[in-house]
Amino acid sequence: MKIGFIGLGIMGRPMAKNLLKAGYDLVVYDKFAPLDDVVAAGAKAGTSNQDVAAQSDVIITMLPNSPHVKEAILGKAGVIDGAKAGAIVVDMSSIAPAASQEIGAALKARGVTMLDAPVSGGEPKAIDGTLAIMVGGDAAAFETVKPILEKMGSSVVLAGEIGAGNVTKLANQIIVALNIAAVSEAFVLATKAGVKPETVFNAIKGGLAGSTVMNAKVPMMLAGNFAPGFRIELHVKDLQNALDTAHALHVPVPLTANVMETMQALTLEGLSTSDHSAIVRHYEKLAQAEVRA
Ligand code: NAD
Repeated sequence: MKIGFIGLGIMGRPMAKNLLKAGYDLVVYDKFAPLDDVVAAGAKAGTSNQDVAAQSDVIITMLPNSPHVKEAILGKAGVIDGAKAGAIVVDMSSIAPAASQEIGAALKARGVTMLDAPVSGGEPKAIDGTLAIMVGGDAAAFETVKPILEKMGSSVVLAGEIGAGNVTKLANQIIVALNIAAVSEAFVLATKAGVKPETVFNAIKGGLAGSTVMNAKVPMMLAGNFAPGFRIELHVKDLQNALDTAHALHVPVPLTANVMETMQALTLEGLSTSDHSAIVRHYEKLAQAEVRA
């Protein structure tokens, strides 16, 4: 089975390398990023999204957002122009569920099946091949590509029809953002009230308030290290998709809206490329107290 891999950014590059390590035959393409190290690791370089699709049975895309995926798949010299009938497109980008459904329908009209399969876990888990992968789409296509996804992730779950993977990812992104905001508010209060934040962390991390987010982000806050990780600008993109999806269904999401406005303020302060743990900086500014070890 020949796999095409499009989008060799922070996430796509290590994911593609894990497929090469597992012995898959890969053809790769990125519109802007260099392909050299992936080619050195054994991949063939494609010349366009169309070219990659024409050479592949399964085409994986790992791109920033809905417009990029639309362009790569439906745009000029796109995947849709090269893909053979019977091919499977697996879009692993985090995009709007409605966009997944639209692109999936266009591909279906050409006999190509699309799954949306966004991931959670960030660059370290992309490198380790231990991502959580949440998938939407046809069950038979899911079973066909599952062994491939298992080379990139330790959890691979079919969540429902096309778009369900990205709905699940939006839920994930809401919970992560609000968890960081809650941790920030609580740790700023504790610091201002005179208790060392590292003491608070050690006292509560094993209890009900403990979380993967707390374990990953509090040490970054204590060190004042806001190097990404997951950039605020990407989280803004995800929350915008969450707000759009919620509002299309008239679902009020007041907490999501609140943390989105916090991220807007941080963007104005020049922190859009900082890690999302920098949400604490907003609360620190409000309270005039810094959460540092
Ligand atoms: P990135 O910006 O590092 O990589 C995206 C790549 O897509 C770039 O190399 C870019 O050149 C390429 N690209 C853009 N448009 C293209 C086109 N039309 N044709 C071909 N290539 C094109 O982004 P990333 O951090 O790898 O994230 C990719 C996706 O994964 C995003 O949706 C992101 O939200 C999601 N994600 C990221 C993380 C993370 O920690 N970085 C974690 C989980 C999920």
